[in-house]
Amino acid sequence: MNTTPTIAIVGSGPIGSAYARLLLEAVPDARAVMLEAGPQLTAIAGENVRNIPDPEEKERARERSQGPQAGSFRESLGIPSAVVVEGMFTARGGTHLLDFGGVGSAHAPTFPAAAASTNVGGMGAHWTCATPSPSFSERIPFIADAEWEELIAEASRLLHVQTAAFADSEIGSAIRSLLAEEFGGELPEGFGPSTLPVSGDPQPDGTMRWAGADVVLGPLLDPENPLAERFELRDLSLVRRVDHTDGRVTGVTVEDLRSHEVYPVEADLVVVAADAFRSPQLLWASGIRPRALGHYLTEHPVVISTVALDAASMGRFATEEQLDHELARRATNPVDPVAAVNRIPFSEPDHPFSLQVMYAENPPFQLDPGHPAAGNRWGYVNMGYGMRKRPRFDDAVTFDDDELDYRGFPNFTIAYGLTDAEQAEIAEATERLRRAGSALGTFVAEPRLLPNGSSLHYQGTMRLGAEDDGTSVADPYSRVWGYDNLVVGGNALIPTATTMNPTLMSVAIAVRGAREAARRLIAVPEAAGRTN
Ligand code: FAD
Repeated sequence: MNTTPTIAIVGSGPIGSAYARLLLEAVPDARAVMLEAGPQLTAIAGENVRNIPDPEEKERARERSQGPQAGSFRESLGIPSAVVVEGMFTARGGTHLLDFGGVGSAHAPTFPAAAASTNVGGMGAHWTCATPSPSFSERIPFIADAEWEELIAEASRLLHVQTAAFADSEIGSAIRSLLAEEFGGELPEGFGPSTLPVSGDPQPDGTMRWAGADVVLGPLLDPENPLAERFELRDLSLVRRVDHTDGRVTGVTVEDLRSHEVYPVEADLVVVAADAFRSPQLLWASGIRPRALGHYLTEHPVVISTVALDAASMGRFATEEQLDHELARRATNPVDPVAAVNRIPFSEPDHPFSLQVMYAENPPFQLDPGHPAAGNRWGYVNMGYGMRKRPRFDDAVTFDDDELDYRGFPNFTIAYGLTDAEQAEIAEATERLRRAGSALGTFVAEPRLLPNGSSLHYQGTMRLGAEDDGTSVADPYSRVWGYDNLVVGGNALIPTATTMNPTLMSVAIAVRGAREAARRLIAVPEAAGRTN
């Protein structure tokens, strides 16, 4: 008789990691095996590669995360010989395009910048660590406010969220003052310019150790901690199928990408947290196909620009001595470009946008040395607004059983469009970005709308719902409708139109799902699929 609950977790990003940690902490005798298709990049599993001091090592880690586009590492990643051709778009470091143009590539003509990371820690090994919380209509309507606040608090604890990161930066403070002058009168109390919460641990020298899945896994990675004995992380292990019979999940089928051996992992509970495209693809390939699977795709559109800070404007709120102090502090950590992170959060009804303002010593691109703003002593800000995208059934990733992708899964096609409602808000946010830039200095990159898919925040394809009415994939506790012991996780569950970075929200949703799954594993073993 089986008395030890086994949990199989697909994907090792922040969400899979939150499930592993919370379930093992809550269910005393449970064991968890985490299966990750990509390689482990760092000695500490899931660490943010931004913390790697050596630039070459950092670049190598990013390249190894790039799945089919992983250059000379492709063979060692067990990836078959998909031919990758140069396309119009390039992926952000550590990610790979889904529509890469070669054999077995996905089709995403209307969402061309869609990308993923394939490595231990997922995108969480590369993320910028901005962790705002959703507010107003961004929140999930059927979770009461008091519970939601508590879920966010727990998610913040898991992600090591700092609400006052870089708050002591005088340059960061001057930026906030200039933005408050420009916009303050138009924003509701409590929703003006502020520091953006970020995920990481401030170091004594004023720098940050950025968080990744490592901090979420926490004690599971500590060999001295008894929880670590009940946790196993297998990298280069591609889950090919979620196995199920009569509405109950029995485990997963895994391919070891080193040996190409295919083997089963039996489990009482399966958690699929393999991103907003590959999770629905895996469910589809497994014959689990709720009507809404892959549909209601959203991301917040992004308009961005780069501005050289103006000495006269900044000089009204910060002194040359304070700038010297800032530059001296920055010199202690030249490999990390971020010096302060500010924002103007979403508020309704008049500011349905999120502004993010990253202060750095250098622009994110090579500025012509002859450019009047080159070498600007006050530095630069990279600024972007996120806008809403209303969920629609027709914005979707769909799967084709007759055409396989480079991994042998039903290939996918993404269809996506921005409507007049979105275009109007994009225009309004672009205008605000011009105002923000003019208040702070001179544009060195004019505001521009990025191609669809650029946010890297893909939502809605496995959305939560209050009832099983065909417009959602999962119930309010993240269980796939009709499958009590199959839980899904990630940004794909977010059912609302949001404008901000979603990871904190998705971890909060995972906290709720993990608590309910743990409760059932403990109290109703047979309901969780156990035989004891
Ligand atoms: P992921 O982190 O994507 O992990 C999913 C994992 O599943 C991957 O490792 C993948 O290899 C694995 N997988 C997929 N299919 C299979 C399979 N069949 N078998 C086994 N494994 C599989 N978010 C924010 O909130 N704030 C930010 O500032 C921010 N900045 C970002 C900057 C960059 C450059 C990037 C790339 C992302 C950023 N994000 C940010 C997004 C953030 O990283 C994601 O929201 C977060 O990582 C999602 O976590 P996840 O666990 O759901 O999925």
